[in-house]
Amino acid sequence: MKRRTFLSSLGALTLAHAFPTRLLAQVRPRITDIRVHRMRTLGETGMMESAWAPGRSSMRRIGGGTVTEIMTDQGVTGIAPGLSASGLNAMRQLLIGKDPFDNEQLGHEMRYTNGAASNWRDVGCVEIALWDIVGKIADQPLYKLWGAAKEKVPAYASMIQLSTPEERAEMAVRLKAAGWQGMKIRLHHLEMEEDVRTIELVRRAVGNDFTIMTDANQAQSSGIWQPGVQWDFTRALDTARALKERNVYWLEEPLRRYDFDGLAELNRLVDIPLAGGENNQGVQEFVWIVERGVYDILQPEILVTEGVQGLRAVAALGLAHHKLVIPHHGGGQLGTIAQLHMIGTWPHCPWIEIMHDPPISPYTNGFAIFENPPTVDSEGFMAMPQEPGLGVRIRRDLIVAD
Ligand SMILES: [Mg+2]
Repeated sequence: MKRRTFLSSLGALTLAHAFPTRLLAQVRPRITDIRVHRMRTLGETGMMESAWAPGRSSMRRIGGGTVTEIMTDQGVTGIAPGLSASGLNAMRQLLIGKDPFDNEQLGHEMRYTNGAASNWRDVGCVEIALWDIVGKIADQPLYKLWGAAKEKVPAYASMIQLSTPEERAEMAVRLKAAGWQGMKIRLHHLEMEEDVRTIELVRRAVGNDFTIMTDANQAQSSGIWQPGVQWDFTRALDTARALKERNVYWLEEPLRRYDFDGLAELNRLVDIPLAGGENNQGVQEFVWIVERGVYDILQPEILVTEGVQGLRAVAALGLAHHKLVIPHHGGGQLGTIAQLHMIGTWPHCPWIEIMHDPPISPYTNGFAIFENPPTVDSEGFMAMPQEPGLGVRIRRDLIVAD
């Protein structure tokens, strides 16, 4: 063999070896369809009254919900939380025939053209599914594709129900014994003394090597106009100071969502970090939050804060301003998992929020739709999924309808 021929065949061999065959394909993948699957429920675990919506109980179920699936002509599909029914046709019109890798451009089109998405939540869903496709074609889990910073993150158990101080202390002991490193407690008692007594009993029960977060949920009225007890500035100030004395990590949403003046003033007066942002929409609101000194810990949510693009922008904003960014739980199982991958790329996110209030509302209820769900290990960590894309597969036997 002539030297030149030999070298050129060696080059081809090396190339073929170095890159997965899919990346050498000359034909770009194209989106062919979008579907929303309804998932079968596997059982019921009981009625639960959320602390932020008193008087309104709902049945907690294993499995169920909806999943978006975006198909491509290469057989690779991407999944995400369920799109709204009203948004589906507009998204089909925008996306079919497009390259799923062009998600930055598609994201801008979804946000800035009229009618492409009926709401921002839908934009977030589509972006998650597009990135799942990209990760699968690149054969990498998203946290690796985006630049990994960590392999696992401690999960904190985000409590749902308003309970007696004694009940919460018992729960804390059980969680700690199971390996959890922290829990978030809702502060919704009519009297501040009962909120503080809850923290005192929990702290006494678990000692100081367990992290306690608190949430007053004063920035939202979830579902109905009945947010329960409403705090004024004095209640927020007195509570914040009492919590700091009891070694609480943060106080979340102590005042109304857009009371930026009140929040900034409170933040100046107290030592405990203030957290919030789960109901703030879009990147711009976080710019104002940072500029005004409203929160120390930013809590954007992927389905509220302009999807993957938006959440990454808020994370960059937080990093540039030396804030922690610890996202809200993600608005759905696949939203949580998309955020898990992002957290895997952020040096300034020390926790992941997992909605977990056993036995009626354990996090495993929602994750039951997956063949390979993430789990919280015996030391309280959630590991980054290792399969390509989001790294989870839905149980197709649970799909009941499109
Ligand atoms: Mg909250």
